[in-house]
Amino acid sequence: MSRLATATIHLGAMRHNLARAREQAGGARVMAVVKADAYGHGLERAARALDAADAFGVAAIADGQRLRAAGHRQRIVVLSGPDSAADLSEMRRLELDAVIHHESQLAWLQADRGQRPLRVWLKLDTGMHRLGFPADRARQIHARLAAMHNVDDTIVLMTHFAASDEFDNPLTERQIESFQTAVDGLPGPRALSNSAALLGWPVARGDWVRVGGLLYGLSVVEGTCGSDFGYRPAMSLRTRLIAVNALGKGDRVGYAATWAAPEAMSIGVAAIGYGDGYPRSIAPGTQVRVGDVPCPVVGRVSMDLVTVDLRGAPAAQVGDEVTLWGPGLPVESVAAAAGSISYELTCGMTRRVLFVEDDS
Ligand SMILES: *Cc1c(COP(=O)(O)O)cnc(C)c1O
Repeated sequence: MSRLATATIHLGAMRHNLARAREQAGGARVMAVVKADAYGHGLERAARALDAADAFGVAAIADGQRLRAAGHRQRIVVLSGPDSAADLSEMRRLELDAVIHHESQLAWLQADRGQRPLRVWLKLDTGMHRLGFPADRARQIHARLAAMHNVDDTIVLMTHFAASDEFDNPLTERQIESFQTAVDGLPGPRALSNSAALLGWPVARGDWVRVGGLLYGLSVVEGTCGSDFGYRPAMSLRTRLIAVNALGKGDRVGYAATWAAPEAMSIGVAAIGYGDGYPRSIAPGTQVRVGDVPCPVVGRVSMDLVTVDLRGAPAAQVGDEVTLWGPGLPVESVAAAAGSISYELTCGMTRRVLFVEDDS
């Protein structure tokens, strides 16, 4: 059987989203974050659509290799920097920028005999307590980096927010203050904001914004989707009905027989499941679209199949298209119904999903 579960990646939406982010960034440069295979959309294809970005952000040197192999000449920032001393020569060879967040990395740089200066982003921890030097050591670490002959003179100063998606959370205010105090008087561009901060914390714009989710049309602000802020979803996940079956009142559907037909009715069986990345954990009643008609999922999501209440779509038949998410059916809502966020769902498409792209 040919593969039915198809993720269509909308390159036009990504181009639009980059332009929209730029507009919201108000003059700050835009780093397009393309880690995790561009949040599941495909690294090379996303980078092609986002080529107007001022830089790319990646989690791994291997992604930098792929972007250089695809011909991208922008700055590429490895967001967690070198993981070993040996990474430095590869980063130089590929001209990748290094985020420096830990004493061990300083030691590798100190011992490094490389000639060409490495571009460095100094990461400060202002309250997230994941990666970064304590903010109150900013001056000291900056001085050590500035004294290294193998580090480029322009050192970007950065921090990362823990809760910028909550627009009234005082933690972000404290992080901004702590960052400003730490870097006051130090030279170099400032880079604080992720997507949510771009939306909700204009004071944190700085000289660079690091935008991932919004470029794919995804919002992590609870109860919202990207289109609420003028962004367009970049992925549509679709499949087809492979069966339409009549049920009698009380007939139970799927593993563990969790759902019973409240009346005589028909259900549709769609060729997609958690084996493709559609979450098994969705709440009962999560909507899909059969043709143009919203219909609730009923019963358990299984590995290859999802069962759908067709009472709203009585004309539905085998072969009809089923949309799991995409324009008009936000992946953010599906994610919320699964107790997750949209990023996890788009990152979770498995290898058996067929990826295609269009220009919309
Ligand atoms: C992933 C990441 C981003 C982008 O976050 P979004 O919410 O996708 O915009 C920005 N900065 C750092 C350090 C990151 O790891």
